[in-house]
Amino acid sequence: MRRPENELLASAAAPDYFHPVNSEPSPPAPVRRRVAPPRGWRAEVDYVLITQTQLARRVRELSREIERDFTGRDLVIVSLLNGTVMFLADLIRHLSLPLRLDFMGVSSYGGGTTSRELVFTKELRLEVRGRDVLLVDDILDTGKTLQTVLAKLRELQPREIKTCVLLDKPSRRVENVRADYAGFEVPDLFVIGYGLDYAERYRNLPFVGVLKPEIYQH
Ligand code: 5GP
Ligand code: MG
Repeated sequence: MRRPENELLASAAAPDYFHPVNSEPSPPAPVRRRVAPPRGWRAEVDYVLITQTQLARRVRELSREIERDFTGRDLVIVSLLNGTVMFLADLIRHLSLPLRLDFMGVSSYGGGTTSRELVFTKELRLEVRGRDVLLVDDILDTGKTLQTVLAKLRELQPREIKTCVLLDKPSRRVENVRADYAGFEVPDLFVIGYGLDYAERYRNLPFVGVLKPEIYQH
């Protein structure tokens, strides 16, 4: 007897690489290991928290989930300057989606390791009204940055806004914001590299690491 097509589809076992649309994004990967920094960085970097290989693997995973969730959508990626440069470049090169890309400049002025007053240094140029926005930032710490940027974006009336961060430091949260996609959960440490800076340096490190305490004392 011939069964209706939809019943046939439902009874077929789903292969394990198949993700149904809108299934939950994977939780952020925990980081546990401390790896010795490459020779050239040993004077300044105390240890590597997330290696180049771990970054590549996890970012690729996030790309796949985003691609799965935003297929068929009118997607605008809004990325926050300057900390997202490396993460964003690696994230979007694997997205086979007809997305648009724009940037917002946000700076918490002051060169130290604590966030202060937020200043917008570049405004969004693309139209987002009625479109789906994926807001990308480097790290979700107190949540003040994402909270402020989300409020500004909502005024532009996008259809939906989702958030994506490379790193999440949940122990530091002050504002009630969460990332829909988060790469790694990190402990309460000031981290640098892979786009993240200390006093505008160390953004070019290919890994995420922790500086030696004496670097902050200069
Ligand atoms: P929030 O507003 O959530 O407190 O902080 C977000 C911003 O603070 C990030 O976009 C980043 O610029 C900065 N930030 C927070 N924690 C760190 C960190 O551990 N390292 C670096 N380099 N920047 C951080
Ligand atoms: Mg930032």
